[in-house]
Amino acid sequence: MKIFIHFLILLFLLSGSRSADDSSPFAVVLGIAQDGGAPHAGCVKTCCSDRWSHSENELRVSCLGIVDPQTEEVWIIDATPDFPEQYHELTQNGKYKLKGIFLTHAHIGHYTGLIHLGREVMGTKEIPVYAMPRMKSFLETNGPWNQLVSLSQISLIPLTDNKIIKLNDRLSLTSFTVPHRDEYSETVGFKLKGENNKLIFIPDIDKWEKWGTNIIDIIHQNEFVLIDGTFFGQNEIPNRNMSEIPHPFIEESLSQFSNLSMKNKSKVFFIHLNHSNPVLDLKSEQRLKVINSGFNISFRGIKFTL
Ligand SMILES: [Zn+2]
Ligand SMILES: [Zn+2]
Repeated sequence: MKIFIHFLILLFLLSGSRSADDSSPFAVVLGIAQDGGAPHAGCVKTCCSDRWSHSENELRVSCLGIVDPQTEEVWIIDATPDFPEQYHELTQNGKYKLKGIFLTHAHIGHYTGLIHLGREVMGTKEIPVYAMPRMKSFLETNGPWNQLVSLSQISLIPLTDNKIIKLNDRLSLTSFTVPHRDEYSETVGFKLKGENNKLIFIPDIDKWEKWGTNIIDIIHQNEFVLIDGTFFGQNEIPNRNMSEIPHPFIEESLSQFSNLSMKNKSKVFFIHLNHSNPVLDLKSEQRLKVINSGFNISFRGIKFTL
């Protein structure tokens, strides 16, 4: 019964507000996995065994598409290792035009898909790539990315913290810095705004406490909140020091968000899930706990009316 009520609330939320219709712009999830995807290189455990043998169960890397069906324009947040499939799906086999790529940061799951824009593959012409200053100079000063710049296959456009970028008459987007392991670049999240709804996308962040912004306020102020759910909890990857790769554990987020109303809880969608994350197992108690508490796990293809 609880799951049924949850499903109804979800349907209501996703259907958008009154004036939204089929031609409304929307965001679409193109992948939900952490940078390494699932199956994950070197993983011989049960979490990946079925994904190795059944390619239909592979999970693409975390990525968000933005679509305006009226103008047939699309944008993509992050160029992942699964860029070929995600580009194909987002542009509907080339029918819609890719108007820009927005990068969150320089970790491999978030920008290396740019390799497909170069001479060896698409040979694109001045595709706008939006990046923060350090991210921009990383691409300008390191191969093979600097070749995309020198051959004008991409046009780098600087992002400024909290500055609104108008995508078209109906859509805008704002980047904001979040704390993360910033070895090569800053890390940003994005806020998308349409005519009806606002969506927050934060695939990677260290811990909520390290951010100067209160995530609870963010949930209150926006209709959809897609956030870092990389790991469910402590000791999930036994042979690694998890303090070197900090993320808000889903377990921690659940308890921090526990006082929210059911409506506010249902705005939260966990994304960027590591192959080891038990919530990826459809029958796990951890997944049930997330759903029964009123939150959501993202899945490829889910659309959010903007
Ligand atoms: Zn990542
Ligand atoms: Zn990262």
